[in-house]
Amino acid sequence: MRDNQRQRVYDAERALYPNGEPIMTKQDGRRFFKRVQKALKIPELALVWRRGGKNSYYRTGRNTICVLHANKASILHEIAHHVIYVRYGTKVAPHGPEFAGVLASMLILFGGQRPTDVQHSFREVT
Ligand SMILES: [Zn+2]
Repeated sequence: MRDNQRQRVYDAERALYPNGEPIMTKQDGRRFFKRVQKALKIPELALVWRRGGKNSYYRTGRNTICVLHANKASILHEIAHHVIYVRYGTKVAPHGPEFAGVLASMLILFGGQRPTDVQHSFREVT
């Protein structure tokens, strides 16, 4: 499945955090992760802090997100990959409309973003 709107999803996220996003302590990041994990009922998912490397990622099918920085946007993005994998397997594009829709909802529910702002920035990817 081609991942042809990945950059547009990144751009939509960046538009919501024009000044970047404050990095939490890893303890607060883990607390945030656990809160979302509980709400979404995905106890199987594990969070690992990545040391070095360039970006965060989801280990597809391995129930693990490897996160570089403890910020809400990164944690939510990688959790959304897990939600999509559980729901669709590899039948949809990694950053396709299904993914963008789940991520948009999570940014509103857990990321402190206003629905109108999320709808606006995600309008072309969902
Ligand atoms: Zn991604």
